[in-house]
Amino acid sequence: MSDTAGEAKLEVKQASKEVKESENVAEKYSAMTVSKNSDMNMGELSSAFSAVPTHKPVKKQIQFVEDKQEFSRFPTKAGRRSLSRSISQSSTDSYSSDSSDDETSPRDRTQVNSKGSSDFCVKNIKQTEFGRREIEIAEQDMSALISLRKRAQSEKPLAGAKIVGCTHITAQTAVLIETLVALGAQCRWTACNIYSTQNEVAAALSETGVAVFAWKGESEDDFWWCIDRCVNTEGWQPNMILDDGGDLTHWMYKKYPNVFKKIRGIVEESVTGVHRLYQLSKAGKLCVPAMNVNDSVTKQKFDNLYCCRESILDGLKRTTDVMFGGKQVVVCGYGEVGKGCCAALKALGSIVYITEIDPICALQACMDGFRVVKLNEIIRHIDVIITCTGNKNVVTRDQLDRMKNGSIVCNMGHSNTEIDVASLRTPELTWERVRSQVDHIIWPDGKRVILLAEGRLLNLSCSTVPTFVLSITATTQALALIELYNAPEGRYKQDVYLLPKKMDEYVASLHLATFDAHLTELSDEQAKYLGLHKNGPFKPNYYRY
Ligand code: NAD
Repeated sequence: MSDTAGEAKLEVKQASKEVKESENVAEKYSAMTVSKNSDMNMGELSSAFSAVPTHKPVKKQIQFVEDKQEFSRFPTKAGRRSLSRSISQSSTDSYSSDSSDDETSPRDRTQVNSKGSSDFCVKNIKQTEFGRREIEIAEQDMSALISLRKRAQSEKPLAGAKIVGCTHITAQTAVLIETLVALGAQCRWTACNIYSTQNEVAAALSETGVAVFAWKGESEDDFWWCIDRCVNTEGWQPNMILDDGGDLTHWMYKKYPNVFKKIRGIVEESVTGVHRLYQLSKAGKLCVPAMNVNDSVTKQKFDNLYCCRESILDGLKRTTDVMFGGKQVVVCGYGEVGKGCCAALKALGSIVYITEIDPICALQACMDGFRVVKLNEIIRHIDVIITCTGNKNVVTRDQLDRMKNGSIVCNMGHSNTEIDVASLRTPELTWERVRSQVDHIIWPDGKRVILLAEGRLLNLSCSTVPTFVLSITATTQALALIELYNAPEGRYKQDVYLLPKKMDEYVASLHLATFDAHLTELSDEQAKYLGLHKNGPFKPNYYRY
């Protein structure tokens, strides 16, 4: 049996264990109504979780192929991105005013904020005001996170927490960091991607006393230097980690094992980082409890589906200016991301085809009104291909050869392996860069195929992603940190945990206010009939939404 098959078998075993546990959880929660959920104070929230038994990791099996690839090599900062966010280079370019900046590396300059501190390293501290405006704009669409901040800041559930973070440094992340600070934490922060830092936001955070070590366009060496500066500082020892991709965790584990051992909890949100944690755990080397935010419902069902539904058109429009009404589009993969893309394209009047390997997803596509086809059947006629499978070589050179003049090819999946871009780098084909992130590949007969973002994630390379979705993920991260930091000894062992369902429901309930949505409360009779507590959790862990 291959390793992958073996892993899949193991995960199935763990998943069925979780099902049994979740049934117990449902019975243990006490009488807080749904509407009260959103008014819970931190004490109540924490005690609500105390009834949650040990959660074992459950992962979507479809990710194994991709995960294996990710772990077979150490990810490079330029190539890897997590499932969470980055601000696109193009969008950052249009807002940042770095042109007048000193071009010497931030590492070679000492900057001082208005309070006299130089414990940070950013591109230009003078961009503070600009960054503050960006953060204020983000706050407007992150009202649930702000409401969590307001509710909990008098209790300071993170008092004493020393959080070291490694995430994309954007205005939305800044709202999260400032929430953690308002709840009592001290934070030092670095970027999980060398391109995604919004320099002005990094400046604004540094001005308020958060020690940020990050700038857009770091070298690989800068990247590790920044992580080290965050962790290795005199008189300050982190006790919590918020990671996105696992690089910070890995660095601490390898370089500072004694500091790592004293960490109270790790919160990780990316597929990559979560998988690395499971590997450490399997090897018996994980000495710290960790929360897998990536597989929580409020991440997967919102980030993957709604984020892509919102951002696919933005990415396509910014790069191509093409009209999509009446265009023949094929979407490869009808999972969460594929469903989001299809919904958006259908709404624009595109004629959408699906390719799928899984009969269940294929049937869903049929029932949603899409034609399910093999790519070869339609390759000569289509105008646009969008890959969303998480797989490799979904679009091959042979198929690219048969596409018609002017067709567009792009990818929304995690890695740039879905389209066989490497096969296009041959002498008979000419590459012409027509604008940022847009290449024309020209065949000897003059045919042009338009390749977007060189086959990397379209939305994260060429557009921005909706702040509201990031608020959901950020709120989940904040609650995971609060929970791990406040959990009584013994509640979490040295293992990887899924977020309690209760926490997912709480995150969702906080976001309902934005829509003035009014939840129906179960009557006593109904609750008894369904075997539920009136305040949730409302679904077992195996429920698929
Ligand atoms: P998913 O597992 O729900 O869906 C992927 C689908 O692709 C599955 O239904 C699978 O059967 C199908 N598939 C696999 N190989 C195929 C092939 N050769 N041809 C046709 N279909 C095939 O996963 P998802 O949540 O939709 O995520 C898909 C990818 O998008 C992943 O790589 C994920 O990391 C990434 N992602 C991107 C964003 C973004 O913002 N762009 C957000 C979240 C996730």
